[in-house]
Amino acid sequence: MPSPTATTSLLNRQSALSIPQKQLELLASVDLERLPAEGSFAQHLRDSGWQEFTPAKLEIFQINVGKLCNMTCRHCHVDAGPDRRENMDRQTIDACLQALDLTEAHTVDITGGAPELNPHFRYLVEQCVVRGKHVIDRCNLTVLMLPTMHDLPEWLAEHGVEIVCSLPHFRQPNTDKQRGDGTFEQSIAALHRLNAVGYGMGNPKLKLTLVSNPVEATLSCNQAAILEQMWKEGLRENHGITFDRLIAINNMPISRHLEWLEQSGNLQAYMELLVNSFNPDTIGGLMCRHTLSVSWDGRLFDCDFNQMLDLAIGDNSADKSTANAENHLHIRDFKPQLIADRQIITGRHCFGCTAGRGSSCSGAIAD
Ligand code: SF4
Ligand code: SF4
Repeated sequence: MPSPTATTSLLNRQSALSIPQKQLELLASVDLERLPAEGSFAQHLRDSGWQEFTPAKLEIFQINVGKLCNMTCRHCHVDAGPDRRENMDRQTIDACLQALDLTEAHTVDITGGAPELNPHFRYLVEQCVVRGKHVIDRCNLTVLMLPTMHDLPEWLAEHGVEIVCSLPHFRQPNTDKQRGDGTFEQSIAALHRLNAVGYGMGNPKLKLTLVSNPVEATLSCNQAAILEQMWKEGLRENHGITFDRLIAINNMPISRHLEWLEQSGNLQAYMELLVNSFNPDTIGGLMCRHTLSVSWDGRLFDCDFNQMLDLAIGDNSADKSTANAENHLHIRDFKPQLIADRQIITGRHCFGCTAGRGSSCSGAIAD
């Protein structure tokens, strides 16, 4: 089985899968008929007692500020890369802040791409901090090594931003395979910088979280204390690095990971694994129930995954080729009640969130 290796963006290669509708069609073509509820996620929800799939209280306001990234990781569900120019503009950021003021969300989760590459990143962070929000920066670590970012670790520390960093594994080969040669070394250098300004030392105001994800077509490991301990020992003993916590997430069958699954002949088996690992105890805590996700162009989504599949709030059409973009809700039209009253849009990709102990931006969901 070929291992995933770093790549270029689907868009750059003009791959058919750069079109969200093509991804949905590929997922729909996987034969899941012999599986429980014939592989229907909606039926799994109903069979678990969820006749309606609606949101709970909005807690996390997630802003995806763009697809520009300094890396092109194999598993990327955003299809981000250096060639992607989509970036949230200042007007849309201000519309996000106005909407944020209408909510009781306690956390603003800033993601991308590499969110730090958005020219308005620091403005957005400052404005959220002024509003008393807890801010999360989803950082790929290597971006901190760019010359223009030399002062960023200190700046983030001054603003009390939580840093959630992706690092597939604490050993070099597993990380470089998925993210590109040299990634591990740069990530270690970035972690040293973060430690040097106080991150990862147990200070709740300077929290450093690492995110691991499987390198191949398997589920994320359970976040048992023993696994976190292994990572802590590995990074401390080999590199003198400390961090606060480790979370493990599943790779979603979306975008470049979907492409790899198909090309490597793993798609059927991976989807079967996800469906067969469905855990009803994860449903209540799925991130779509307490998160609102805003795209770089201001459209609203249930989560970052639905965002990449173009399954926008306000558009319940199953066939995206005939969907009416005018129905999409935009952040400038944000109304809390409209969001609270919605039905969450689901599909086969959702099995990635409900498999095993579940998977969300905060890691496992069920005990
Ligand atoms: S660093 Fe993150 S956003 Fe950038 S390519 Fe890798 S997975 Fe995608
Ligand atoms: S992918 Fe589906 S289950 Fe997962 S957070 Fe999004 S809508 Fe919810």
